[in-house]
Amino acid sequence: MESAALDFLKQLLETPSPSGFERPVQEIVRRYAAPFADKVTTDSHGNVIVALDPKTPHPTAALRLMFAGHCDQIGLLIQHIDSDGFLYAQTIGGWDPQVLIGQKMLIWAKGGPVSGIIARKPIHLLTDDERKQVVKLKDLWIDIGAKDKEDAAKLVKIGDPVTMDLGFRPMLNNMASATAMDDKCGLWVVIEAARRAAAKGLQCALYAVSTVQEEIGLRGATTSTFSVDPHVGIAVDVTHATDCPTIDKKSEGDIKLGGGPVIFRGPNMNPIVVERLMMLAEATGIPFQPAASGRATGTDANTMQISRGGVATGLVSIPNRYMHSPVEMISLDDIDRAADLLAAFACDLKPGDDFTP
Ligand SMILES: [Zn+2]
Repeated sequence: MESAALDFLKQLLETPSPSGFERPVQEIVRRYAAPFADKVTTDSHGNVIVALDPKTPHPTAALRLMFAGHCDQIGLLIQHIDSDGFLYAQTIGGWDPQVLIGQKMLIWAKGGPVSGIIARKPIHLLTDDERKQVVKLKDLWIDIGAKDKEDAAKLVKIGDPVTMDLGFRPMLNNMASATAMDDKCGLWVVIEAARRAAAKGLQCALYAVSTVQEEIGLRGATTSTFSVDPHVGIAVDVTHATDCPTIDKKSEGDIKLGGGPVIFRGPNMNPIVVERLMMLAEATGIPFQPAASGRATGTDANTMQISRGGVATGLVSIPNRYMHSPVEMISLDDIDRAADLLAAFACDLKPGDDFTP
C-alpha cells in the first residue's frame, strides 16, 4: 500500500463522524479525491460523490457505476447535564453498553474536543448482585471533570456528538485496530478504488460515494443512489470475521482476517455482478472469501438495490473482528485487495454490458 493511501486511512480513522456529524471526515474525503476526480460534489444530505468521467450531468450513453462506502460511525449524543456536571447521552447506532465501561471518550464540542471518561463504581464497592448485572446505558455517565452543571455547560452543549478515543494501532501481520473500522476501511476502499481505476482508464462513468447515516438506517445510500441513478452498484462494508474464539462458523460462515475481501451471494446481490466479481478476482489473482446472506443485508447494498427501478448490486465486505467496539480489527492486505478488485470491476465495464438476471 502506498504511504499516501495509508495516511488517508489513518486520517479517516482519526477524524470523528458520528451519523449526522460527518462533515469533518467528508472534508478529508474531498481533499484526497480532488486531484484524481473529474468532479467532487456534496449533496444536501451530506453524501460526498466522487465522479469520474461525468461528461454530461447524466451521461446516457455511458454505463453508470456507483460504489458506496459509509463514512459515519456509531457514537453518542449528549442529552443531559446533571447538577454535579456529569453528562448523560443517547446512542447513535447500535452499541453494546458493556464495551463503554472504562473507555476514554471525546465530546466534539464547538470549542474543540473535550476529554471524558465512562466508568462505574469500583469492583470493591459493587454488591454481589451488582457484579452479576449487565450494565444498561441509562446507568452510565460521562465524567469530564467538571465542578458542576454550569462548569460543564461552558464547554458542552446538548446535542454535541461523542466518540470513543480515535486512533490507529498497527498490529502483527499487517493487521490494524481502531474504533470505527466500520466502515472507514470500506470508505477507504471505494475512494482508493476510484483513484486506482482513474489511473488505469475507464469506459464507464464511476461515482464513488462516501455515504452518510448508514448506521441509523442506510439513509445516505438511499438519497445518493437516487441522485446518481446508477445501472450497477457495489457497496463496501465490514462483515464479521469468525476466526476468533466463541463465534460459530456453522451459523456465521468461515471468514478470516487476511483471507481477502468477502464476496456475498444471496437475494440482495445481482447474480451477474457476483459472477463478474468472482471471475475478476480469479483472473487477477486476488484471493476472496465467499459468503451467503439469505436476507436484505444491513448494508448500503440493501437500499441501493431497490432504488428507483432497481440497481444491479454487489456487496464486497472487509472481515472485521470485534465490530462496534473500541478495538475493531482488520487486515490492511484485505482492504488493499478489495480496492484492487473494485478498480478491476470498474475498468472491466463496457458500454452495453447487461446485468439483467
Ligand atoms: Zn458498517
